Formats: sequence, structure tokens, C-alpha cells
Amino acid sequence: MGHPAGGRSALQSCNPCRVRQGKRDRFAMRLGMRLVYTEKAKLPIGEHIFQASKYAAIRDQLLESGAFRACDFVAPEPCRDEDLLLVHTKLWVTKLKTGTMSTREELELEVPYSKELAEAFCYMTGGSMMAARLALEEGCCVHLGGGFHHAFADHGEGFCLVNDVAVAIRALQRDGRIARAMVLDCDVHQGNGTAAIFGTGDPEPFPRASWSASLLAPSRAAHVKTSATRDVFTVSLHQESNYPYWKPPSSIDVNLPDGTSDGEYLEWLETALRGAQERFQPELVCYIAGADPYAEDQLGGLGLSIEGLKERDRRVFRFARDNGFPVMTTLAGGYARQPADTVTIHANTALAAREVFG
Ligand SMILES: [Zn+2]
Repeated sequence: MGHPAGGRSALQSCNPCRVRQGKRDRFAMRLGMRLVYTEKAKLPIGEHIFQASKYAAIRDQLLESGAFRACDFVAPEPCRDEDLLLVHTKLWVTKLKTGTMSTREELELEVPYSKELAEAFCYMTGGSMMAARLALEEGCCVHLGGGFHHAFADHGEGFCLVNDVAVAIRALQRDGRIARAMVLDCDVHQGNGTAAIFGTGDPEPFPRASWSASLLAPSRAAHVKTSATRDVFTVSLHQESNYPYWKPPSSIDVNLPDGTSDGEYLEWLETALRGAQERFQPELVCYIAGADPYAEDQLGGLGLSIEGLKERDRRVFRFARDNGFPVMTTLAGGYARQPADTVTIHANTALAAREVFG
């Protein structure tokens, strides 16, 4: 704790990074990538299965790895109310700011509400907005936070008060930076809030017969549903028999069976990526890289290994890079029996991004 979180002062104090910054200003060759992080986004929820301390531990592990330096970390400002209102109802924003939600609404959050918690979520959302902007400028950016995909327009649930990724997308659209975005959600839980916020149209068949045999035949079936979409295409790979029990339709939902292994998961990931790419050309991919598909997760029931999850990350980043899609990443859930595993899986996401994007 107490480590400088980065930002302008860190850039000024680190000569190699100042050189890099100069290159960025001229849109010349990009060296390395930046990570968004601030201690101000730490969620004040005490002892909880959601380990709010994980973010600082991830940052420390990344610094210790030698792959990132202090000057690679940049700190966001909190989002403004007008940003929240791009996605959330005025009533919900008022309840968040004033603590006037009902007992039932607070229980649905599954974290203890406080005004400080709402403030931390504004930093989390500001972080995702910053990561999205940096991804557009630099190709790739990872936010060591965010991914609160269970927040709906008019309420929060499942540890999520604000849908930070949805706000980040709507803010870029408002500012004329992008028209079309894709959300690729690989948390073990379906992105119900995101799906509901962006909505869908009529279902389409999936997979298509034109796909190659290997892509059509993952070794074990998953129930796949697809829907047409508008300006935001949502893809969710998740465990079918898990929260949320009501799953509003994403553009592509891959409802995976319990115990899905590395190989099976990666086959379905490739299938989903191919299907998404056939249907939609985004100007930004928002990757929600949940750590909870891990076999040892307390809230998950899939069977991925730590290495399998890192391979998942590599494939997503290669998909973005090879198609020229800027990609911003958020971390979302992770509840491993050994907290250090959650930290390693999340840190690996940033390392995989670095590996693929340099
Ligand atoms: Zn989750």
C-alpha cells in the first residue's frame, strides 16, 4: 500500500517513459502498454468473498514480474454523474449517491452499501472509461478493476452497483469516438446487466453450416443462443447452471456445462469469436476477463486451469490484434479457494496482453 499509482507524476519521474510518451504524442511506434489502477477504487466491503484487496496484490505481482514498471500504471479520475446517466436511470443514480435504496435493493447488491462504496464505483467506472480511451489510442489497455457486468440500468446486483463497461462504451459513443463496440464476457457468470442494457433483436441460428468442421464440433455440447443486435454486440461464455438464473439474451450466449475443461472451453471460445466476427465489426472490443472459470473457484463450476485461462486471454488478445480491433480489458470476478490463485490469474491477463501487444 502507499505505492504511487502512476499518472502524470510517475511519467515525469521515469525518463524512459517520458521518451515513450513523446512517441505516443506523434502517433509513432508504441512501446509497451499501460495499466489503469487506483487505490481509490478499493471497495470498502470488509471481509467478503469478493476480495477487494486483490487489485493492489495484482499490481504488486505485475511490478514484481518485471514486465511492468511503476510508470506503466496510470490513475483515473472518477466518472461524473452525466456519464452514469448514459446507462443508468436518474432514480438509480440518485439512490447510489444518497443511499436511499430500499432494503431489498441493498440486499440484491450482496455487498454492504455505503456512500464510500458508491464513490469507489465511480473510480472503477472512470478507470474503465480511461482504459477504453487508451485502447483506442494505443491498441490495448488493461484496467486492474472493473467488469461489473451484473449492474442493470435501474438496479445493482451480484456485487455490482454500476455497469462500468456499458458506461465506458456509451461515453465513447457520446463523444463521437466510436459507433460500434463488442463486449466479450468470459466471466463464469453470464453478463446479465450488460445484455439487458444493450438489448438484442431476433435470434439467429448459431453455429452456421459454413464453419469448418473443427469449429462446429467442440468435443462436448454447450447450449448456444444468439440474437441480432444494434450498435453493441454482446458475447458471453459462462456456466449455464449458475447465477444469474434469469439470463437476458446476449447477442451470443454460450451456456457451458458444469466442469468444462480447458480444451472444451477454448474450442467454444474460438467458435464464439468466429461467430461474432462474422456478424459484427467493432471499433472497440471490451474484454471482461473473469478469473472465476477457474476449477478451484468457490462461486464457479467450470474446470479451467490457470494455464488454460492464460491461453484464453492470449486467444482473445490475438483475435483483437489480428483483426485490428482495439481492446480494453476489465478483470471482473475471481473467488479462488487460494486468494493467491485469483491474483495470479488476473495478473496473467495483463501479462498475456503484454505478450501479444508488446
Ligand atoms: Zn463472476
